[in-house]
Order: sequence, then structure tokens, then C-alpha cells
Amino acid sequence: MEIFNEDDEEIKKLMIRISKKEITLCETCDAFFDYVPQKYTCDECKAKRKREYVREYNQRPEVKERERKRRRKYAREYYQRPEVKERECKRKRERYQRPEVKERIRKYSREYYQRPEVKKRMREYAREYARRPEVKERIRKYRQRPEERERRREYQRKRYLRLKKLREEE
Ligand SMILES: [Zn+2]
Repeated sequence: MEIFNEDDEEIKKLMIRISKKEITLCETCDAFFDYVPQKYTCDECKAKRKREYVREYNQRPEVKERERKRRRKYAREYYQRPEVKERECKRKRERYQRPEVKERIRKYSREYYQRPEVKKRMREYAREYARRPEVKERIRKYRQRPEERERRREYQRKRYLRLKKLREEE
């Protein structure tokens, strides 16, 4: 055959081996591998293609969403385990005991309760709370305690004296 010159002796040999089904030329690169029926790509290309497929597959929105759900479910179940719960509680307790964390919480809550909308909400809540029958009853009982009566009398007396003093000073 004239298509092969003398330099193509190697190629000729390869072509013969291919036609005798001894070897195969990879579809996507120039590597040869031992002939196996139905196998068209070398192992390296096959692995690479598989990696690409997996990457592409994992990028699909529905797959991503499924994976997110699976992870969330796992996390939920994980934190429900008694030994994990116990450990988490302990960790949290220890954390809140640290001086810098305590200080940060104090600072945060101070700022939080200074916010106008929070103040308003708290006032509304307190009003609503004080109107509950069981709370009213509790307050009434509390006020009837002797030491409470005494404290109130003492407060009234001091207030009276203070006002009297103010009037005298005028
Ligand atoms: Zn290949």
C-alpha cells in the first residue's frame, strides 16, 4: 500500500494489530491499550470522563438540593443522639461560663433592651401579663404578706416626709 512510506513501518504494524483486535486506539487520546470488546477509551480517559460526569452531575440544581436536604436530615438526626446532645449541652454551658462570653452577652442584652421597639414590646407584654387572672391573684397575695405591707407603709411614710420637706423648703 502506497499510503505508508518506509517511516510508517511502526504505524503499519499498529494498524495490523488493531485490525487483528489485539490493541485499540483510545477514542479521546493517542494511547493504545489491550483490546477488550466494547472498550473504546483508555483507563485514564475513562476515569477522567467519569470524574467530569460526577462533577457535572453534582452541579445540577436538583442534585444539589437533594444533597442539602440529606445533609440537613443527617445533622438533625445527629444532634438528636443522646450522647451528642449531652456533649453539646456541656460545651454550651462551659462556653457561657467564660468571662469574655458573659461580658459580651451582658453588653448585647443591655443594648438590646435599649432599643425602642424592644422596650415597646416589653411594655406591651408586661401589661398583658399583669392582666392575667392567675397573675393578678399572685400579685394580690404577694402584697398581703406582712413584710410587703410594712415595706409599702415605710415607702409611703418616706414619700410623705420627702414631700413635706419639699413644701417646707419652698
Ligand atoms: Zn485515552
